[in-house]
Amino acid sequence: MAKKDISPEDQEDKEIIKAYRKLLKSARYSQTEEDVRKIRKAFDIANESHKGVRRKSGEAYIFHPLEVAQIIAEEVGLGTTSIVCALLHDVVEDTSLTIDDIEDYFGPTEARIIDGLTKIEEVFERENSIQAVNFRKIILTLADDIRVVLVKLADRLHNMRTLESMRKDKQLKIASETLYIYAPLAHRLGLHALKSELEDLALKYKAPQVYGEITSKLKKTSAVRTRFINQFTLPIRQELDRQGIKYRIQGRPKSVFSIYTKMKNQKVEFEEVYDIFAIRIILNVKEDVEKAECWKVYSTATDFYKPNPDRLRDWISTPRANGYESLHTTVMSPGGRWVEVQIRTERMDAVAERGLAAHWKYKDKRSDALDSWMSRIREVLETSSSNPVEFVDDFKLNLFAKEIFVFTPKGQIRSMPHNSTVLDFAYEIHSEIGDLCIGAKVSQKMVSPGHTLSSGNQVEIITSKAQRPKAEWLEFATTSKAKTSIKNYLKIERKKIVAQGKTTIGRAMKKYSIKRTSKNFQILSTFYGVNHTDDMFYKIGIEDIHLNRLSRLKVEDGIITSKPRRKKETTLDQIMATTKGKKSDFVLGKDSAVNYILSKCCHPIPGDDVVGFVTNKGHMEIHRVSCDNTVKLLSNYGYRAVKAKWDSNETLSFLSGMLIKGFDRKGMVNDITKIISNDMLVNIRSINFTTENGIFEGNITVFVNDTGHLKSVKEKIRALKGVNSVSRLE
Ligand code: MN
Repeated sequence: MAKKDISPEDQEDKEIIKAYRKLLKSARYSQTEEDVRKIRKAFDIANESHKGVRRKSGEAYIFHPLEVAQIIAEEVGLGTTSIVCALLHDVVEDTSLTIDDIEDYFGPTEARIIDGLTKIEEVFERENSIQAVNFRKIILTLADDIRVVLVKLADRLHNMRTLESMRKDKQLKIASETLYIYAPLAHRLGLHALKSELEDLALKYKAPQVYGEITSKLKKTSAVRTRFINQFTLPIRQELDRQGIKYRIQGRPKSVFSIYTKMKNQKVEFEEVYDIFAIRIILNVKEDVEKAECWKVYSTATDFYKPNPDRLRDWISTPRANGYESLHTTVMSPGGRWVEVQIRTERMDAVAERGLAAHWKYKDKRSDALDSWMSRIREVLETSSSNPVEFVDDFKLNLFAKEIFVFTPKGQIRSMPHNSTVLDFAYEIHSEIGDLCIGAKVSQKMVSPGHTLSSGNQVEIITSKAQRPKAEWLEFATTSKAKTSIKNYLKIERKKIVAQGKTTIGRAMKKYSIKRTSKNFQILSTFYGVNHTDDMFYKIGIEDIHLNRLSRLKVEDGIITSKPRRKKETTLDQIMATTKGKKSDFVLGKDSAVNYILSKCCHPIPGDDVVGFVTNKGHMEIHRVSCDNTVKLLSNYGYRAVKAKWDSNETLSFLSGMLIKGFDRKGMVNDITKIISNDMLVNIRSINFTTENGIFEGNITVFVNDTGHLKSVKEKIRALKGVNSVSRLE
């Protein structure tokens, strides 16, 4: 047969079929003929509907749903229904197909899941949408059918993997969103591998420089790490082999993102964190002996290395709320380094990496923990406050929280977030118990509602009928359930006071023959210097506003004719008008179009990647792209962000702080200040040194021109004898 030339179209069709075949192979729980027929049908419909459409990268659109389905099948490990929905996740949103069509083709379950996915998509696409609102939508659908969220997470993962072809500002927005919403969600669902990849990819676009530095340093140090792991595990391996235990050992370094977070939070350099990693021993044993076998391996490991008694974590006897099971210990290696050893079985490892999907796979009896977590989410949703940003913050508090276990007087065990207080526990039992809480008996001692609980405490809440929730309680309530209950109570209280205030001013107005029109109420609000009439009523209710000033107003026919001075108008709209539509970046320098301030949270200096935000007060605030507040601001108020860059022609001085750590010696402070002021000719604004047990910590703020300048100062100081680390203060 003659060889024919293959056209690019044919080549692409071949690639599509290849991707489809790979998907079928990965769908290990879709083995029946019926399963394959359904997946085939979904693929055909998706392929037909997206025909001719291309993604920004230029490839045919169908590759995207195929990849999302691939993640769902292979990395999350879900079954046919989820694969079908992943293949069809964009058809209702992007093509002429409707939810009813899906229901006709497949059934009500698939239709409901795709409906959920389409609804999330719709809010996300809206340009000025506030991310917190979207987050709430996602959580709401999560309570409906968890598969909606899992497909959405897979969709986001593929979009992050292919973010390269998007515009720079879109990249930043999507990466911020990923860190703000999706990674915590993946974490809470126990999808560890997915969460790590999302975080690393987000960092890659948010802080490309730092990301590149850490990745290349990790590569350079990998041989040293491997050697250390081999040496460290050798005696353990020999002993386990002798005992005939089947196992494998992993010695993975931390993810790029977790190294970055550690460097930032502890203000240390890469060299101080890169070699901290966990050794994981994964056992291949039968389910009925797994606990005993894990402890056997623990005993072996600690025969060779001394464990730190404070760092023993038994997540096997009491798994975490997201289902995580593992035995953790930290031991001392011969080189004087702490090494975390994690011991678990293959089943536990699958749960840890792929979360609840693995629960389903193993038909785990222990998924009670997950059920109770889901019901907690529903509770939060039902009692939550109306402000979406507040909602997300409260919710995230709970997402990240570590857990403690406390006991009721009857000996029932309850899991609570780390740092929970007596008040949290009271609200956890019942909101009425919380409202009336005056303290508790913890281990026979009386403690206040603000007392922080620890694992193992037995807690008996004491109530009083005369007790009422107070605003100060919000300071020591930490769970969202407690917080929302208190806020709800205070809100109802406030309503009562507002009503009282309204009656009071109504009476006073009658006395001065002022009509109770909304116009008059507005003038009065301005007169008393408050923004809303409700605020005025409230202040009257708590007697913060006194009504005798009413006599000063001029009134004609019941209408106030005096014109109280108004507050200055906000210039927010003016600034938006100045910067909007401008293609070029907002330039920071003497000739800037509007006034700006450098944010106090991250102290940006020239050379830093920066973003501008128009604040409520009407000025421009400049933040570093790496600043935590930027993530929050970008994902919630993206429409107020303005691209900004530094004027490269100007040399100005900027304030920046450094933290220096090391061993104290005679003349140390002198040497440091000498380098800064004499050698580098940099002005010092403030300096503060403390020494404890021969270790010193120095806080110095200096005036520098840009990041390059700061870097060379840092390097010179680091070269001094006795100095261990120099880092920039956030
Ligand atoms: Mn998609």
